[in-house]
Amino acid sequence: MGTKGPQDPIDALAALFEHGPAAVLTGAGVSTDSGIPDYRGAGMPPRTPMSISQFMHDEAYRRRFWAGARVGFLRSASVAPNAGHLALARLEAAGRIDGVITQNVDNLHRRAGSRTVVELHGNGSVIRCVDCGNRWSRAEVLGWFDDLNPGFAEEHAGAEIAPDGDARVSDTDRVEVPSCAVCGGILRPDVVYFGETVPPEVFAVAETLVRDASALLLVGTSLAVNTGVRLVHRAERRGIPVAVINRGPTSADRRESTRVRIEGGTSETLAALTAALG
Ligand SMILES: [Zn+2]
Repeated sequence: MGTKGPQDPIDALAALFEHGPAAVLTGAGVSTDSGIPDYRGAGMPPRTPMSISQFMHDEAYRRRFWAGARVGFLRSASVAPNAGHLALARLEAAGRIDGVITQNVDNLHRRAGSRTVVELHGNGSVIRCVDCGNRWSRAEVLGWFDDLNPGFAEEHAGAEIAPDGDARVSDTDRVEVPSCAVCGGILRPDVVYFGETVPPEVFAVAETLVRDASALLLVGTSLAVNTGVRLVHRAERRGIPVAVINRGPTSADRRESTRVRIEGGTSETLAALTAALG
């Protein structure tokens, strides 16, 4: 972080909190220290988004999905919130931020103890019925999977894990797909997939957090997603300062509203910020 002085980036970041709590928008970069890869980061292969249309119309696709989700779940126990998630939870408890708006679906902000979490792209640990809208935890639905496919998870425990955390399981022809316990409908993860849009009521809550904040922090996001850009526009319209903490360039770097730009990891930067704010 360099020598202490008036230009110290952490001091400049901390100064943005002088007029009240800030709003925070996080992206994949905040979870890389938890072992979840950032598909948009440097050196990563291009993302191949799951096609929700294939998922809905092709049962073979759903068999592969649930088989992969079940086997991947065996190894997901090692994924835990990192110092960045924990720092944001502490900043909220101390009244320094008014909540976290996130593009991530990994549930790590809630697990770290953040109370107000706006999940723009949903939450992958929640499963919902496309017909009746009932929701269950992924763990519960995977229990139904085990009832329908006894021994399957153990048999395939050695399968390769894909970057999204699900396993690549072959031999899924005889897999029984779990369905809604209420109406028998198709179950899907409660996330916004490529080609789907952020629910307006969710975006409205995010807007409220930005409207009530004295600054907007962009943490671990390259701001490639339009919803994030719209939130920056809201901040600019109100004339509040924006700060960017990210490894690699972001589309907010050259905006006039960006007062602080820190090129660095989110875990160590947020931990340093928490210490600076005392
Ligand atoms: Zn249902």
